[in-house]
Amino acid sequence: MTRAAEDLSRYDLDALNNELRDTEGGEVDDSIPELAKADPALFGIATVTRDGDIRSAGDSRIPFSLQSAVKPFVYALALMDKGDDILDAVGTEPTGQAFDAIVFESETGRPPNPMVNAGALLTASLVDGRSAEERIERIMSGLSKIAGRDLVVDENVAKSEHLLGDRNRALGYLMRSAGTLHVDVDDAIHVYARACSVLVDTELLAMMGATLAFGGRNPVTGVQALSHEVVTETLSVMATCGMYDGSGRWLRRVGLPAKSGVSGGLVAVAPGRVGIGVYSPPLDEEGNSVRGVLASERLSDDLELHVLR
Ligand code: GLU
Repeated sequence: MTRAAEDLSRYDLDALNNELRDTEGGEVDDSIPELAKADPALFGIATVTRDGDIRSAGDSRIPFSLQSAVKPFVYALALMDKGDDILDAVGTEPTGQAFDAIVFESETGRPPNPMVNAGALLTASLVDGRSAEERIERIMSGLSKIAGRDLVVDENVAKSEHLLGDRNRALGYLMRSAGTLHVDVDDAIHVYARACSVLVDTELLAMMGATLAFGGRNPVTGVQALSHEVVTETLSVMATCGMYDGSGRWLRRVGLPAKSGVSGGLVAVAPGRVGIGVYSPPLDEEGNSVRGVLASERLSDDLELHVLR
C-alpha cells in the first residue's frame, strides 16, 4: 500500500466532516435558478488513492453539477484531440479577475487561460466533432472515461444555463469577431452549457481528480483516459488559475492544483498521491466553497500534501 494510502486509510474523514460541517459563512450561488435551490448545509468529502481506495464522509453521494470544475477536464480533452493547437488558441496566464470577465490577451485576442469562461467556451469548441452534438458526445465520453462511470447531464441546469448565458454569448461574439472562435456562437454556448451541467457526486469528483493524480490513468478501471503530457499541462494551469481570484492564496495555503465551481464542487490533485473531491454549496467572495477550502487546507496540512513543501 502506498504511503498516501496508508496515511489516508488511517485518516478520519468523518471527524473532519463533523468538525467543519457547522462552519457558517458564504452564499449559495444564484446565477442560475437550479443552483439557488441547493441546500446550504450539504457537505461531502471524498478521496481516491492509487490503489483505487475510495474513502468519503458526509454528503458524498449527493449529486451536483460540475460547473467550472469541468473546465480542466474539457481542456485536457481538447489537448488530447488537438495538441499544441490548443496551446496556441488559449493562453495559460491567470487574470486576477472574475471567471466571466470580458478580458482577452491584448496582442493576440486569445482568452487568457482555459479556466475562465472565454477560455472554456473556446476549448469546448475545439474538441473533436463536426457538429455541436458530436462535440458534446466527445466530451461526455471523455469525462466518463476520466470518472470511470457513464456521466449524464442535469437537463434542468443545462436549460437554464443556455437561456441565461447572455454574458457567455457576448464572450462568444467577441471571440468570433477576433477570429479565435470558429464555430457558431449558439453551438459553442450549447456545448459549454452541457459540459457545465454534467452531474457528479463528491466521490466521482475525487475519482476524476485521482485520474489526474495518477498520470491520466483511472485508478479503479485502469483505463488510460489522458496522456501524461496532457495531465502535466492541465495540472499546471489548475495550479495557477484554478481557484478564481483566490488562486494565489490557495497555492500558498493548500499547495495543490485545483478547480472549483459555483455549484460548490472543488477538485484538488496531489500528484502521485491522491485525488480529493469536496462539495458544499455556500461560496466565499471569490466563488470558492467555504467548507471546501477549509477541508482542503486541513487535508493538505494533515497529510503533508503541499507540492511546494
Ligand atoms: N456555468 C457557469 C458559467 O458559465 C460556470 C461558472 C463557474 O462555475 O465558475 O458562468
